[in-house]
Amino acid sequence: MFEPPVQRLIDELARLPGIGRKSAQRLAFHLLHVEEADALRLGNAIVELRRQVRLCSQCFNITGEELCSICRDARRDPTLLCVVERAQDISVLERTREFSGRYHVLGGAISPIEGIGPEQLRMKELASRVETEGIREVIAATNPTVEGDTTALYLARLLKPLGVTVSRLASGLPVGGDLDYADEITLGRALVGRKEL
Ligand SMILES: [Zn+2]
Repeated sequence: MFEPPVQRLIDELARLPGIGRKSAQRLAFHLLHVEEADALRLGNAIVELRRQVRLCSQCFNITGEELCSICRDARRDPTLLCVVERAQDISVLERTREFSGRYHVLGGAISPIEGIGPEQLRMKELASRVETEGIREVIAATNPTVEGDTTALYLARLLKPLGVTVSRLASGLPVGGDLDYADEITLGRALVGRKEL
């Protein structure tokens, strides 16, 4: 429909979350008309993102180095571990300033409908951390959704036999949404008021 280079960009943009065909066309034509330096900066930012960013070898947070800044920080409590679905949930929880332990990113939640079972998530890595890092408590900070609750119960079944306490964020979070739907104060309270599973 358009010149191949334009069509290629529209196709790529349309694959991004929240961008429909119309928005993709609008963005592509916008980029045709901006200064070349501006367009190159955007292109380079995407290339550099993939080159310089990787996953922390311990917690699977996003980092530029072998270990992320939280895992490297000796002031963090090594006996407390907060399990989240996605790396971006870490920044949401950090903003509450109520958590001083470390994190573990599962990479999603158990969802039979989407065909995601425990073996598709980083459960094995989690169990081995619990066994080797002297962890006392694991907080299931999965989303307040059916999938998040299912995952939290699975975590309790998997980890309690290893001798750790497994707790869940207190209720009061907006049900059915992601963690970042909650404001910092509500999320901070849910963290402090967590309940043992
Ligand atoms: Zn880390």
